[in-house]
Amino acid sequence: MTPFQYSRAISIDDAIRLHGTVGAKCLAGGTNLVDLMREAIERPTSLVDVTGLSATIQESAGGGLIIGAAVRNSAVAEDPVVRMRYPALARAILAGASAQIRNMATVGGNILQRTRCMYFYDQDGSRCNKRTPGQGCDALEGFNRMHAILGSSPSCVATHPSDMCVALAMLDAIVHVKGIRGERTIPLTELHFLPGNNPEVETQLAYDELIVAIELPALSFAQQSTYVKVRDRASYAFALVSVAAAADVQDDKFKDVRLALGGVAHKPWRAFKAESLLRGETATVELIRAAAEAELADAKPLRDNAFKIELAKRTIASVLSQLLNSKQ
Ligand code: SF4
Repeated sequence: MTPFQYSRAISIDDAIRLHGTVGAKCLAGGTNLVDLMREAIERPTSLVDVTGLSATIQESAGGGLIIGAAVRNSAVAEDPVVRMRYPALARAILAGASAQIRNMATVGGNILQRTRCMYFYDQDGSRCNKRTPGQGCDALEGFNRMHAILGSSPSCVATHPSDMCVALAMLDAIVHVKGIRGERTIPLTELHFLPGNNPEVETQLAYDELIVAIELPALSFAQQSTYVKVRDRASYAFALVSVAAAADVQDDKFKDVRLALGGVAHKPWRAFKAESLLRGETATVELIRAAAEAELADAKPLRDNAFKIELAKRTIASVLSQLLNSKQ
């Protein structure tokens, strides 16, 4: 491991001051960063320990929830208000990793975790544009069963590994960010980038900015939300495809709907096309299938992952049917 400086921040402002230098990284649960440091993929010159800062869940002024960036994943999933008002978020977190990792991992770290593309981690044997810009991408012609089908580029076909972020994208979550130059908010759907020509640039955060909290807007029909993850093993496996959805169904019509996909793109994939076809329409099997077809119309499969296209369509249909049936 490359030597680094360690300091423990005593407040958010202290963390911003310590973190505001090139090469610094924040350390919270360490469940991804420490792995990356052991593999010498991440080589921070300084680690700022932010454990315990911004670690509360509170009601927001608008009637939603503000979840501190340092709240542990397991604490979010167990929170009674989250479970009642945003069940998809609790389900998504519980679908991720293992109980031990969820007990350590934090909300901010979950959002900023990096891809689990095996070529990215294979420092000595594989080419990777995300790890070493301009080097090439061995996943393009390699074993790419787990890789992206939407929004990828010739530079990178990696997926974002988070389950929690798929639910947050569906719920219109807002990321609260603070840095040397002040505070701002970013819709979660806009925080992560698609790979384009620069897959090493993964979010729009500036080097000095910290995620301090996530805001869940008040969304009454989020109580009718769920998350389904399709994976190779029943636990401790990343999504082949996952779907987070919420639906407001009245008189057999989708009065409103939110839909997001995981395991298919470099970022949590909000299914805006499908939503616009569903909204205001009578909920039929044919309509749901047409919406799923539209969302996946631009999918570009690789050698090993064409199955994800049909899997995504069927998972969308299954999840929306579950929500419709739960209303009856
Ligand atoms: Fe690297 Fe992306 Fe290619 Fe994986 S898919 S090897 S992360 S460039």
